[in-house]
Amino acid sequence: MATELEAIRQKLLAHKQELLARAAKVRADITRSSGPLDKDFAEQVVQMENDAVLAGIGEATAAELAQINRALLQLDQGTYGICSQCGQPIGDRRLEVLPYSDRCIACAGAAR
Ligand SMILES: [Zn+2]
Repeated sequence: MATELEAIRQKLLAHKQELLARAAKVRADITRSSGPLDKDFAEQVVQMENDAVLAGIGEATAAELAQINRALLQLDQGTYGICSQCGQPIGDRRLEVLPYSDRCIACAGAAR
């Protein structure tokens, strides 16, 4: 069990690095494209749309990072793999697909 949790921790940390790299790239892209807008109106619209898309990716990445950080904290506290809503074990299969999930499949399904 302990080695299993260690494997999950490594997986989470690797994914976190990946997300941080992606977030840094998104930020760099936003900075680059948020220069003075083009005089041509059609070009301005395209530029603003690009910014919105990039910001959207940043938001999703930030949310995922928060989930990973929470999962890492739970690993430290020994509460990893427990559903935050019903307190039941989340299940190995679900954790394998979504290692930072904090709800069991029943609660995640009910929330939708
Ligand atoms: Zn649950």
